[in-house]
Amino acid sequence: MGKVLIIGAGGVGTVVANKVAQNNNVFTDIMLASRTKSKCDAIAEDVKRRTGVTLKTAQVDADNVPELVKLFNEYKPELVINVALPYQDLTIMDACLECGVNYLDTANYEPKDEARFEYKWQWAYKEKFEKAGLTAILGCGFDPGVTSIFTAYAAKHHFDEIHYLDIVDCNAGDHGKAFATNFNPEINIREVTQKGKYWENGQWVETEPHEIHKPLTYPEIGPKESYVIYHEELESLVKNFPTLRRARFWMTFGQEYLTHLRVIQNIGMARIDEVEYNGQKIVPIQFLKAVLPDPGELGENYTGETSIGCRIRGIKDGKERTYYIYNNCSHQEAYKETGAQGVSYTTGVPATIGAMMFLQGIWKKPGVFNVEEFNPDPFMEQLNKQGLPWHELFDIDLEV
Ligand code: NDP
Repeated sequence: MGKVLIIGAGGVGTVVANKVAQNNNVFTDIMLASRTKSKCDAIAEDVKRRTGVTLKTAQVDADNVPELVKLFNEYKPELVINVALPYQDLTIMDACLECGVNYLDTANYEPKDEARFEYKWQWAYKEKFEKAGLTAILGCGFDPGVTSIFTAYAAKHHFDEIHYLDIVDCNAGDHGKAFATNFNPEINIREVTQKGKYWENGQWVETEPHEIHKPLTYPEIGPKESYVIYHEELESLVKNFPTLRRARFWMTFGQEYLTHLRVIQNIGMARIDEVEYNGQKIVPIQFLKAVLPDPGELGENYTGETSIGCRIRGIKDGKERTYYIYNNCSHQEAYKETGAQGVSYTTGVPATIGAMMFLQGIWKKPGVFNVEEFNPDPFMEQLNKQGLPWHELFDIDLEV
């Protein structure tokens, strides 16, 4: 029924490969392609051992549209699941348009030479996808992704109007390393070192990096210092839920992590411009990635849980209501099931469910959409079945 091409063989690609194979009643033909084919082969071998399902593999440079077009025309997938890097979003979308293939990703486009992620580049493809009769599903990981679907679900079932949204992302895991990032270090460091930003009363309010912070209490974890940072789903959520008076994103960071980040920035290792070294041009943050622990290798000794959710205040039947919806995910359980840690797992499972929604014709309409624009209910049902169960709390102190 569904022929799917996964692009990207990192931590998230590992989880997607496992989950689509587990659901081979929906995904009947699967190919995993990436820049380094040996990584695809190793994942395919592991997936075969775990699930008995055979994946095809291929090498592709996703920065190169003609190479993508050649692969798409040979394999003829119905849908591409893009879990490479945000830099490849537009080239993959271009190739999809050229070959009549549908598209799904987990992170919005970001130019390599500018640490600035925005939806405008991908939203600009709306008409082209409409005309081609193709669907593009943007931001279908956990955040963005599940957090946006949680918001849509809350708006649909529990509120007449949502007014205040605080997305809270806690990683209370311990990987035993002095410093490591949970997903691609280059993308991660670019994201967390930029200025903070949140939406209030119809406009964006900018803050210094990590300026606003306080302890928030996470279920089964307890209080953790949490920091307001800018995160990409805020851009589409304030557009799609215009009743929002304020929308913020909080993430927990340990003191050790922040100290390392500060040092990395102060010594220039977070720079994204080229510097000359021994007659060769290098980009410091890319060099740093090469010496940091590989996020895909953190799983084995990772203990603890992630807890990500939405804290919402609004009106129902004329009365104020508070609501908290969240998922906790164990790094160890994720590793046992897929060989990858919890952050990759919480991204790869929603990407798989989004792909399932498309192939089953539930989330299928021509154009370019953020996930909150689709019916959240069938997706929410699958979260409970595919390893990311969610919980709801009503009329509690939201702390935010
Ligand atoms: P990794 O760095 O572990 O993996 C990225 C993969 O993409 C690697 O296999 C890499 O190949 C491949 N790749 C990079 N450039 C190219 C290229 N030009 N052509 C083909 N393949 C390429 O990243 P993660 O798995 O941690 O993250 C994957 C994506 O998921 C990222 O976009 C990230 O932003 C997103 N993400 C989203 C989250 C969410 O909740 N929405 C949370 C976490 C991540 P190679 O091995 O050769 O380097």
